[in-house]
Amino acid sequence: MKREKYLKPILIVISAPSGTGKTTVCRELLKRNPDFRLSISATTRPPRITEANGVDYFFLSNEEFMDKVRKGEFLEYEKVFGHYYGTLKSTVENYLKEGYSVLFDIDVNGALKIKEHYPDALLIFIKPPSLEELKERLKNRKTDTPEQIQERLSRLPIEYEKSKLFNVQVVNKELQETVLNLEKIIREYQRKLDYVSQ
Ligand code: ADP
Ligand code: 5GP
Repeated sequence: MKREKYLKPILIVISAPSGTGKTTVCRELLKRNPDFRLSISATTRPPRITEANGVDYFFLSNEEFMDKVRKGEFLEYEKVFGHYYGTLKSTVENYLKEGYSVLFDIDVNGALKIKEHYPDALLIFIKPPSLEELKERLKNRKTDTPEQIQERLSRLPIEYEKSKLFNVQVVNKELQETVLNLEKIIREYQRKLDYVSQ
């Protein structure tokens, strides 16, 4: 039987309303799947207390970020909640060359731009079980003020609208269940692409 790690490397783009759990889900997927690598984005947002430079993001000043924009180093970049976030071309190209599938934790606009560059990218939209649960998760995360939480919630309509263009939508109710479900979806997609390219 073909081993999972030899399946075709693909781009797996995960978007979700802020607080749904996509960062948590991505961490689990990375822990469990040695053939996955995270595309670490660059951002001008200040680090949260739990975050480290080069692990969660590359934390840059506005000047450093704009310098990379001018040099064409981003595959895509967006302003989200008042800060810039961007995907580095070199990260994606190098991981693909090395045979890894690349996981992206990015917003819906960035996801659709990745799809323009890489039409075979698998776009996954993760939904919270309910609006109430989403608010609870944002509150319990304790990283945002009530105003910031409101700002994050205000993006929901546009996120749900754009999610219609994604390959799949998955509800993140129980974390382990979500992770297993995503692994199944990803492996099936890889097999389908493998089959088509033979
Ligand atoms: P996002 O990256 O989508 O903004 P996070 O991964 O930071 O979201 O998760 C937001 C909060 O919800 C965190 O405190 C996380 O521990 C929690 N969380 C994630 N997934 C679940 C789940 N399935 N059930 C309950 N809480 C969850
Ligand atoms: P956070 O500040 O909560 O880490 O991220 C805010 C939003 O920016 C999330 O929707 C996150 O997925 C998105 N994001 C993170 N990195 C990138 C990126 O490189 N490009 C785009 N377009 N969005 C990103």
